[in-house]
Amino acid sequence: MDQADVAVIGGGPGGYVCAIRAGQLGLKTVLIESDRLGGECLNYGCIPSKSLITVSKLMDKVREAERYGLKTTGTSVDFAQMQKWKSEVVARLVSGVEALLKGNHVEVIKGEAQVKTRDKILVTTASGTQDVSAASLVLATGTRAISLPGLEIDGDLVIGSRQALELTSAPKRLLVVGGGAIGLEFACMYQKLGSEVTIVEIMDQLMPGSDPELVRLVARKLESRGAHIHLRSKVASLTKDGGIATVDIQAPEGRSRAAFDKVLVSVGRKARTENLNLRELGVQANEQGYIVTNKKMETNVPGVYAIGDLTGPPLLAHKAQKQGVVAAECIARLPSAADWTVIPEAVFCDPEIATVGLTENQARAAGYSVKRSRFQFAALGRALSTGDPEGFVKIVSKGDDGLVLGAQIVGPDASNLISEVALAMEMGATVKDIALTIHPHPTLPEAIMEAAESAAGTPIHQMKT
Ligand code: FAD
Repeated sequence: MDQADVAVIGGGPGGYVCAIRAGQLGLKTVLIESDRLGGECLNYGCIPSKSLITVSKLMDKVREAERYGLKTTGTSVDFAQMQKWKSEVVARLVSGVEALLKGNHVEVIKGEAQVKTRDKILVTTASGTQDVSAASLVLATGTRAISLPGLEIDGDLVIGSRQALELTSAPKRLLVVGGGAIGLEFACMYQKLGSEVTIVEIMDQLMPGSDPELVRLVARKLESRGAHIHLRSKVASLTKDGGIATVDIQAPEGRSRAAFDKVLVSVGRKARTENLNLRELGVQANEQGYIVTNKKMETNVPGVYAIGDLTGPPLLAHKAQKQGVVAAECIARLPSAADWTVIPEAVFCDPEIATVGLTENQARAAGYSVKRSRFQFAALGRALSTGDPEGFVKIVSKGDDGLVLGAQIVGPDASNLISEVALAMEMGATVKDIALTIHPHPTLPEAIMEAAESAAGTPIHQMKT
């Protein structure tokens, strides 16, 4: 290709979506990816983890089968088949991305990009090197997992999320270091697949920074199934011997020692900027190493954009995708800008957690007069009839006019439910708008309607407060 209009480095959800949109807009686009199209999300993150979580949930239901009047005997997990199915899901999605890029006339170069100057990228491919130059450059190289001293990932006994997705059996004793979203998803999943789980978290709650009420239910469920959760704790030492890790855990109540068959380290991620030559380019990064952009995804250097995880938390695929669209549209000189007032987040632990907008405390801190309403899944027909009555929906709205400011959900299918509130917020809806919307019965979204009815002062299935 001669000089391109746009060169995108990194083919994850940020980069491939940006390239597709740029192609749709008639821009001559080249996408450079060193590994697999789809990036972390499709290949090593969202999709494979949710596939395995699906199997673990099924297994969990089967264990409870007798309660529902189902006779099952000898059900067990065939890890090889489970991994095969997961890989098929991933492969199907990756080939879909390939087809979309091709269909939108994006040139894909498989290779490692090194930014030399603002308009020269050196790409090392399997067959040699190639220069690429483009009028606009989009950096979308994502993040990589970090480790801790003494807990370096060896890929065998001490593993990261990538290896945790490839295990051929459930570790008998699994230590999860780091109780954030990723650690928690794996903890719940492997517990259901048969592991005895221990979690060590340095902060005073799982998923630090999130609403403690939401996380409490997840912690309680993990513990009720035998998990050990150590908060305000850290791994003081780890020794490996004969395929076993002996770990000293320093907790507020003292030090304890335990043996584990696998140690999963999920303590955070850092920006992948090593090949981007940021200093030479003059591109500004913040103290954590994430690239700073404005709402058009422009960096401080004209013509250089950054999107996705590379721009910092929240590290979410759908945020990366939105940023990709915005960058492409801005390059095409369309009026487009990112706005993060409404960005849903979902954690696929058990029960699931999903949030959007402001929490009650955040809304108060922002100066709103706040109304908080709530509905328990235990009072909902559908939640009871699916055997998942734990959790609640909480809606935060403005006290004066009922404008929806946010929602927090913990419970069945929270990840799917949250989109209704996100849409309500996008549309500037009030709790009355949600309450007046007829929801099909019996369904889980009725919990959102019920919480909204409560906020609007018209609750039916709970007492008026
Ligand atoms: P990435 O997906 O990281 O893609 C960056 C790409 O750039 C990679 O493919 C990489 O190979 C390529 N690259 C890097 N450097 C170069 C170079 N020099 N030359 C060429 N190519 C390069 N998010 C959610 O929203 N929901 C979830 O359920 C979820 N689950 C997750 C589970 C796990 C276990 C993990 C690890 C992450 C999860 N995430 C989830 C986060 C999600 O994966 C990221 O937010 C998303 O992938 C970010 O997209 P991105 O395009 O910014 O970067």
